[in-house]
Amino acid sequence: MTPPAAHAGAAADRAARATVCPVTGRVGLWTRTREARPRPRIERQPLPADREGCPFCDPADDDVRLLPVAADRGAGRWFGLHNIYPPLDGPTGRADLAVATAHSPTLAHLQPDLATVWATMLDVQLELAARFPTRWSLLTTAVGVSAGASQHHPHGQVLTPATPPPVTIEQQRRWADRQTATSVLAEPLVVASLSDVHLVAPLVPLGPLDLWLVPAGPGGLDTLDPEQLGTLVTRWLVGVHRQLGRTPSRSAAAPVDIKTLLYPPLPDGTGRWWAELQVTERHAPQVAAAPLVDVVDPPERHAERFRSAGPSA
Ligand SMILES: [Zn+2]
Repeated sequence: MTPPAAHAGAAADRAARATVCPVTGRVGLWTRTREARPRPRIERQPLPADREGCPFCDPADDDVRLLPVAADRGAGRWFGLHNIYPPLDGPTGRADLAVATAHSPTLAHLQPDLATVWATMLDVQLELAARFPTRWSLLTTAVGVSAGASQHHPHGQVLTPATPPPVTIEQQRRWADRQTATSVLAEPLVVASLSDVHLVAPLVPLGPLDLWLVPAGPGGLDTLDPEQLGTLVTRWLVGVHRQLGRTPSRSAAAPVDIKTLLYPPLPDGTGRWWAELQVTERHAPQVAAAPLVDVVDPPERHAERFRSAGPSA
């Protein structure tokens, strides 16, 4: 005989719903039995936190990589550095870095000035992007190996390809549809708001701790307030730490692997800036290659978990 709990699970499965994200086109399916499925254990691999051999620590004044861009809001100086190794170079585009003067802590460590640290990095990223005003740039950060980081030292990237990726062009066209913003910014999905920028649970997340940052209306990077974004990113990270339930990390290694992707509108003004905040270590393996995502909770519960996690550490 089947126990009642199994009946309840089957009912939940039947009730599982599917949603299509109007921005990414990903299809999401929710089922309470998701966690019961076998899945490979994700091994987090810490990057060496030792300063020895760090390519970003103490560049000489005549280092050819240095760019005339810097910012300091009182929580440490950040500066611009040309990234001379990646495939984005010359005819394919350009890759630059926003780099902290301090080797640690990482951008994923909870720290008193975390919002200001993120705002300072954004200051430098925005200046780097502004150097190529006719091009489209991706403002991104990665902390930890599962996020794709190859260095421990706090840094962000500005990737300026020769042309925007087709998927980006399509997504910005979808933002131009008023109905898209109405669906994404529906009240039950909103975790926190500062002025006209909202921290929301995505309709189809890649993992259970991902959130998005979405402004109420279309706007270019010149409308973006770094301090406001730093505060909302910090709000997300506090919720992530609370839900992971890890003891505050005193070690130098990243306490959680994260990636942020800030997409400006297209150079012709189509779309809006918006950002994905991802906890990559909680993404299902290879999920990024799949247009079909299944997770445990629908986005309304996802938002509620973050709201109840509270705003401060
Ligand atoms: Zn370093």
